[in-house]
Amino acid sequence: MEVTTNPIFEDVSIAFSSKTDKQLKKAYFLFSMMNRRWLVNIGKASVKLGFALRLPISGVIRNTIYDQFCGGIDIEDSQGTIDELAKFNIGSILDYSVEGADTDRGFEETTQEILRTIDRSAGDDNIPFCVFKITGIAMTNVFEKVQNHEKLNEKEVASFEASKERIEKICAYAYKNDVRLFVDAEESWIQKTVDDIVYNMMRKYNKEKAIIYNTFQMYRWDMLENLKKAHETATKEGFHLGIKLVRGAYMEKEAERAERKGYKNPIQVSKAATDLDYNTALEYCVENIDNIALCSGSHNQYSNYFLTVQMEKAGIARNDERVYSAQLYGMSDNISFNLASEGYNVAKYVPYGPVKAVMPYLFRRAEENTAMAGQSSREFLMIKEEMKRRKAEKRQKK
Ligand SMILES: Cc1cc2nc3c(=O)[nH]c(=O)nc-3n(C[C@H](O)[C@H](O)[C@H](O)COP(=O)(O)OP(=O)(O)OC[C@H]3O[C@@H](n4cnc5c(N)ncnc54)[C@H](O)[C@@H]3O)c2cc1C
Repeated sequence: MEVTTNPIFEDVSIAFSSKTDKQLKKAYFLFSMMNRRWLVNIGKASVKLGFALRLPISGVIRNTIYDQFCGGIDIEDSQGTIDELAKFNIGSILDYSVEGADTDRGFEETTQEILRTIDRSAGDDNIPFCVFKITGIAMTNVFEKVQNHEKLNEKEVASFEASKERIEKICAYAYKNDVRLFVDAEESWIQKTVDDIVYNMMRKYNKEKAIIYNTFQMYRWDMLENLKKAHETATKEGFHLGIKLVRGAYMEKEAERAERKGYKNPIQVSKAATDLDYNTALEYCVENIDNIALCSGSHNQYSNYFLTVQMEKAGIARNDERVYSAQLYGMSDNISFNLASEGYNVAKYVPYGPVKAVMPYLFRRAEENTAMAGQSSREFLMIKEEMKRRKAEKRQKK
């Protein structure tokens, strides 16, 4: 498939229209730092040491990388970010990004927090979806055992039942409040267990429209087929299939485990194969929009462009509630802001949580934005371009 892009994504003036000169300068500084791998490595080590020594580093982090990628320390504190995005017709998806303790108490606390995001989202168009990760509310080793048809001991049976109850509680609450809910995708060794539970939730709550969305990782070579099978089941049983499409985040982990355990790597043979299946899945969803609702979670310009082309071909209105594009807060604003300004439905994952607790999330974003093979990160180049553009504009006005 030829990789072209929609010129609208090149418009950096719209991409950064929410940022003042000062904010843009700050983002430039931050991304130029992250661009250097050695600085990211030193930064990570210093932050870990700083927290271990109880040094007062939260303020500095909050003012820099945290502000770029997170909404706030709690739901209330994220209001400024929700408002800022709403001004540009971009929805917020409050993503509680605290990797809590793997204990019943930790899982219960996370469940309560997810219920609070549903409360906050109810009736507010600026928060079009809620989201949760199964790993935040369930023991992964138990899910893995269930997937392998291994016998569970008494404690594990209780743990599994409690996890299913939490999921049921969250989904029922979303349904009651008419709030659409994403279930994030996980590693392949627990995903089948997740799928089975989520499809049961869809059977129950997606009868009139899609409330519950499962996530499909197209970097898996079996996923396009899985998606089609899920659609067949939904059609046969008469429920709506909520689909969040992503490429997938655990490629290295998947490959490493497959190699270690001696089974076939579940990941596609190449990036091109992932891209092809991702775009084919987009096309499939749009063609079957009668009982599918789609959110394309991607920073890939071509896929975002391809989706708009498929929508136009199928005669789907840009603001049709069944189709959304989503990106992460602080990333790919050129896609989010430009699509939104053209009238498409767009939402951003807005991670939130106390500074120290979201550090693993922030480290992942920093890693992602380091220069690769001598090339500056995409975000850095775009911010640089916008600064140049603003400078030239000011010079012209003088
Ligand atoms: C809103 C949103 C929600 C998300 N939710 C989830 C989730 O629930 N679960 C989850 O796992 N991830 C999730 N992600 C992350 C996502 O899976 C991707 O890792 C990330 O978005 C990068 O892919 P991309 O489509 O943006 O674009 P690109 O930058 O074009 O693609 C990069 C991706 O391509 C794939 N890839 C790269 N190299 C190869 C290769 N050699 N062979 C095969 N495939 C390759 C990998 O998936 C890699 O992440 C989410 C992302 C967003 C924006």
